[in-house]
Amino acid sequence: MKRLVLIILLFAATIFSRAEAGRIRTRQVPATLDLRERARASLNYLTRQPDRAQGMLPYFWTFFGDGPPELRHNHWDYAENPGRFLYGLIAARQVTGSLEGTNEERLFQQEIYSRMREEGNCLTWRPAYSPFSRTRNLPEMNLWDNRSQFMGLLSLYMAYEEPEVRAKLEGMIDGLEKYGIRRDKYFFFEREDIQPGHVVNPQHEPRVGQHSTGWITPLVKYYQVTGSPRALALARGLADFTVDFHKTSVRPGRTLGISNVHGALFALGGVIRAAAVTGDREHIEWARRLIDYAADNLASDFGWIQEMEGRDWMKPEDSHSTETCTIVDMLQCLLLLAENGYPQYWDLVERYVRNYFTEAQITDTGWMAGEGLREDDVLSSYTDVADRVRGCFVGWGAPNDLVDSRARVKNAIQNCCGPHGAWGLFLVWHRITTESENEIRVNLVLNKETAACRIASWVPYEGRVEVTLYRDSRLLVRVPPNEDKSKVRSLVDGKAVKTAWDGDYADFGRLSAWQAATLVYPQKQELRKETLNGIEYKVEWKGATVLSIDPPGRNVPIFQRDNFRGDSAPLKTEPDPVFRPEIDRALMEIDW
Ligand SMILES: [Zn+2]
Repeated sequence: MKRLVLIILLFAATIFSRAEAGRIRTRQVPATLDLRERARASLNYLTRQPDRAQGMLPYFWTFFGDGPPELRHNHWDYAENPGRFLYGLIAARQVTGSLEGTNEERLFQQEIYSRMREEGNCLTWRPAYSPFSRTRNLPEMNLWDNRSQFMGLLSLYMAYEEPEVRAKLEGMIDGLEKYGIRRDKYFFFEREDIQPGHVVNPQHEPRVGQHSTGWITPLVKYYQVTGSPRALALARGLADFTVDFHKTSVRPGRTLGISNVHGALFALGGVIRAAAVTGDREHIEWARRLIDYAADNLASDFGWIQEMEGRDWMKPEDSHSTETCTIVDMLQCLLLLAENGYPQYWDLVERYVRNYFTEAQITDTGWMAGEGLREDDVLSSYTDVADRVRGCFVGWGAPNDLVDSRARVKNAIQNCCGPHGAWGLFLVWHRITTESENEIRVNLVLNKETAACRIASWVPYEGRVEVTLYRDSRLLVRVPPNEDKSKVRSLVDGKAVKTAWDGDYADFGRLSAWQAATLVYPQKQELRKETLNGIEYKVEWKGATVLSIDPPGRNVPIFQRDNFRGDSAPLKTEPDPVFRPEIDRALMEIDW
């Protein structure tokens, strides 16, 4: 009898759990900018673009125009791009909560390990011989390359905390100490490219370059993750060197110093990170002045930023496209400033993200596909290229066009930008909210779900954002730029409440779990003119969102946003909840 009861109970339990599993709860949310969808597109690109036949070697170039589009290798693919693809992939997985790409992570890890040579401890080397390497028949250890490799392995270490990965990172730091120069309080490197048998000249005349400055961010983060005192010491020495010797990199008529704006801004981000650890407000102010200069002189209001601030070997007219890496590092600098005492920079972040940064991700690659078939060889791949690169970010874009007719390399994309763009998505997504035990701050009115709350945004159709709390907390929501505070309305569970202010944040005070706070605000429509590289653009704005740009692009025009003129957001159905704590724990949310 007991047995029969047990069987009946088991049968009932099975039926019940099947019914539960089959009933996936869903909810309707506004179908507006969702960085999770963007990161999913990045996952496609980061896992499918690289050359599996050669150990997951990424392709630096994408060419299109005549015939089928082509992926082509060059020297960056050996010891720089695998690191970028690894940190980009882990970043994209963090945003999506997806486990897609975990196999590819390990392939990138193995590719990085395969380039290590005993001579440089664990630093990685380009090979001596290759159809697409520019080395002088000798292996080359490039310090800027290795910055990416280190960041890739460090991201992996943050995600899984495997001691073997940490040992490799320690080995890379041994290599840095071997090739670096310590003088007074400073630390720096002589040059970017090191050949076997290199002997360091301790009297080398110091000159700031990205081979030195690019290491501040990875070393500060390594210190924050592991507490390594020597990583902090090297980072401080490099940051002091960057600030005090900055003038050694500045040419007449320029301000940033390092001519590649991506490299220059990455250095400034590093200086802020180091200063945030050491409490050096002067260094933060120093970096802020240069970032303001770049935002005012090299960038548009909507986030297009010039790739170069002049360059010796380049014609001036060739330096006028953007690369996404530059935009990402500007975003990084603005986010770091916003976090370190300058909340006014959230405004620029909101504008850049809603406009050029998201337009720069190529989610529809149909225009790229050309007629014809070609066979793959050791240098190039022509197989399913348009589909494989879906989710990449533009390299060489015009303010109004994904393909800049005036670019220094025509009909091409540089694939440093695809992985760095994915990392940029993470940097922004990670900071949409700032959460502590008693307080949740919503810094950007972008859709997100965390363990503490979910945010639904109707922007730019309506100036409306709703935050539903998953726990009791004080809630503050930042109102996007250029909005008239007197016209902002606050509601809690649909009932109007008086809006209290804390700077640009509407302060809802303490709310209980499952209460929903809504902010409604007007979005000013206006036409603003901007002149970029001698061309005047008329830019139509609705709040922080660009609706159109005139003249429009001629090749692959962007800002085709007539749909945003409407005042009611389309809705989409998504699983409820999107946030899955078990997946999040499996991934271990990292911090960059
Ligand atoms: Zn790039």
